[in-house]
Amino acid sequence: MNRPVAIVPAAGSGRRMGGGEPKQFREVGGVPILLRTLSALRDANVFEHIIVAVSDEERARVEGWSPGIPELVCVAGGEERFHSVKSGLDAVSELGDGVGDDAGDAGTSVAGIGSHRVVLVHDGVRPFVTAREIIEVVRAAERDGAAIVCSRPVETVKSLGEGGGIVETLDRDRVRLAQTPQAFQIGLFREAYMRAEGENFVGTDEASLVERLGYVVSVIEADRWNIKITTPEDFELAEWILKERR
Ligand code: C5P
Repeated sequence: MNRPVAIVPAAGSGRRMGGGEPKQFREVGGVPILLRTLSALRDANVFEHIIVAVSDEERARVEGWSPGIPELVCVAGGEERFHSVKSGLDAVSELGDGVGDDAGDAGTSVAGIGSHRVVLVHDGVRPFVTAREIIEVVRAAERDGAAIVCSRPVETVKSLGEGGGIVETLDRDRVRLAQTPQAFQIGLFREAYMRAEGENFVGTDEASLVERLGYVVSVIEADRWNIKITTPEDFELAEWILKERR
């Protein structure tokens, strides 16, 4: 049984939220956003480890959450998101690959999970991820190698030319907005990271590292409220979601 591992990059300084503490530590409904995110991953009940990349200043606080989240492992974040996820990936090797693990039935009983080691990456600032999204993306990565949760754009999508003006209207049915979770078979993910590092490519998401190797990434439809809390307005929306939608 190869149980999935989650990596949560949460080492950003959250500058877009303005001053004060990083946005992932601000509270929604009285609970830090990051703790909500980690709890959502725990509640999916599929992960052997939940590895969270945090800054040195925040590490003790996050380690204090481990009684409620026994799967939690803290690692040091890096300069960019790419490096924070890499730090989590290195920790997966240290914790053991799970390949040939004799974990037996101690693993998850969710059908379609467990024949390959899957690594799932999820933003620390998406606390409303659902168990349905987590399980479906892990299952799709087991089957296809790589999968991500995406939403459909509701607006018509335009492409800009060199001068910044619109030159083309894209076919909306063939466009998706990438969210997290994003999940990968571990061998493919390691290869993608090695190649990206060798070629100095730092993407804005993990799937882009795999796409550039020529792999086709499977798509799981996002639920409505899997928002990434980025701006002060998102913060208000998050409070509303918590009160009215959950
Ligand atoms: O900045 P952005 O909103 O893209 O960040 C997405 C996630 O990546 C956040 O959870 C943030 O804390 C994390 N991150 C990180 N290490 C960095 C920068 C961002 O783990 N150096």
